[in-house]
Amino acid sequence: MDCRIEPGNEARSNAMPPVFRFAPSPNGYLHLGHAFSALLNHDLARQSGGRFLLRIEDIDATRCRVEFEEAIYEDLAWLGIAWETPVRRQSEHFAAYGAAIDRLSAQGLVYPSFESRADIARLVAEREAGGAWPRDPDGAPLYPGTAKSLSAEERDRLIGQGAPFALRLDMASAVARAGGLSWQEAGEGPAGESGDVAARPEAWGDVILARKETPTSYHLSVVIDDALQGVTDAVRGIDLFWSTSVHRLLQALLGLPAPVYRHHALIRDAAGQKLSKSTRATGLRELRADGTSPSDVRRLVGLV
Ligand code: GLU
Repeated sequence: MDCRIEPGNEARSNAMPPVFRFAPSPNGYLHLGHAFSALLNHDLARQSGGRFLLRIEDIDATRCRVEFEEAIYEDLAWLGIAWETPVRRQSEHFAAYGAAIDRLSAQGLVYPSFESRADIARLVAEREAGGAWPRDPDGAPLYPGTAKSLSAEERDRLIGQGAPFALRLDMASAVARAGGLSWQEAGEGPAGESGDVAARPEAWGDVILARKETPTSYHLSVVIDDALQGVTDAVRGIDLFWSTSVHRLLQALLGLPAPVYRHHALIRDAAGQKLSKSTRATGLRELRADGTSPSDVRRLVGLV
């Protein structure tokens, strides 16, 4: 893996220090892949005279646990990483995300859909029986439903009945409103994309922006928080490369600034597989218990 660090981006002209962030979800223990991302962000911040923020992305109450959050603080401190406080915890900011949904709704770009996961799987199977049905860059089928055409009365009736719903972005209208978009990529995409990369948000279909029980989504909260926290450089795994298309679109629709993005390679296990939060062999806590030192971790992830 190429782990050279080239600080800064020439396009930035203001005198404010660059702002980096590491934004883990506390739904498991950190592994070597997280260590790489956190250390890379921290090193880049230090080398460029910038700031380093830690953000806890804990919007999913069913999977996130305080125990994992505590472990994040412990593991990062052990690695020698220092972050600014207070740490932004997304679960404390649902009102800010709700306000953004309201702004998108006021532009006529949001609609509720009421299908369950099983309904969606059935609809996709039906569509696939009639030919290929498009999938998003992560491989998930695009939303196959027709909730966009429900009448306002029908929507109100279902919501009034207490039906569960997801709030979706009307992608066709959103793209029509925002026009062509691109982002600055200081790293590299899966096919070597770099520099000015054309966003392709339509590849994601009508993405979910919020659910009845979780009034935000990863896409929405990451965009709001990066803007609110003044993040200038979003350095993160290449698995999020094409999500950036959706992030650019939301930034454009909400009038928010776009950071420079730098997507980095993922650390893989000996078999070439992506690391999982539940694999003990690469967990930071296990490595620590086995006598691995923070500088060993740096060597293991190629950051010396
Ligand atoms: N919370 C995301 C994750 O753990 C990272 C979000 C981001 O860096 O944009 O994968």
